[in-house]
Amino acid sequence: MKCYMVIISAPSGAGKTSIANYLLRKNPNLEFSVSATTRKPRGSEVNGKEYYFISVNEFREKIRNGEFIEWQEVYENQFYGTLKSEVERIWGKNCHVVFDVDVEGGINLKNIFGTRAISIFIMPPSVKDLEERLISRATEDRSKIRMRVEKAMEEMKLASQFDQIVVNDDLDRVQNEVYKIVDSFINERC
Ligand code: 5GP
Repeated sequence: MKCYMVIISAPSGAGKTSIANYLLRKNPNLEFSVSATTRKPRGSEVNGKEYYFISVNEFREKIRNGEFIEWQEVYENQFYGTLKSEVERIWGKNCHVVFDVDVEGGINLKNIFGTRAISIFIMPPSVKDLEERLISRATEDRSKIRMRVEKAMEEMKLASQFDQIVVNDDLDRVQNEVYKIVDSFINERC
């Protein structure tokens, strides 16, 4: 089986992690690419599951050693990156890779993998809705939420660079829609 890449990008709080998790539950041939990050674990997050939590120094060393396919300083002093070793690990299991990355990272990964990848932009129904979701998630303080909303407004301008745009106005419907998009992308090729 040839391995394909599924890139899910969205502004923070637009629901992409729930969508990525849904895809992973429904299709055992998909596997999540665990990114490295310098941000601290939130809530019940576990090292090696949601992220590899590393220090800024370790992150910089990995940049110097060329260990990343792509990386971004998503927020000031918060680095996130896709490790080459992670993608190779998943390919080694003969699985398709699911990336949950920020919008610039998504565009970069699509440029790298070309027709082997499908890039999907999850659009929040509105900026107000996004802000409310971040507030109700209650994982960040108000100033961090403001930072995320401002970044989201910039990111939404880049949506047209993705293969597909899906508006997250109803999580159940959207999960299904994204699942169908991914399923037909893979089935057309396998
Ligand atoms: P969070 O802190 O909410 O987990 O993630 C913040 C943002 O960083 C999200 O948009 C998430 O998709 C993105 N992100 C996570 N991993 C990566 C990565 O490896 N590369 C890039 N470019 N962004 C990432």
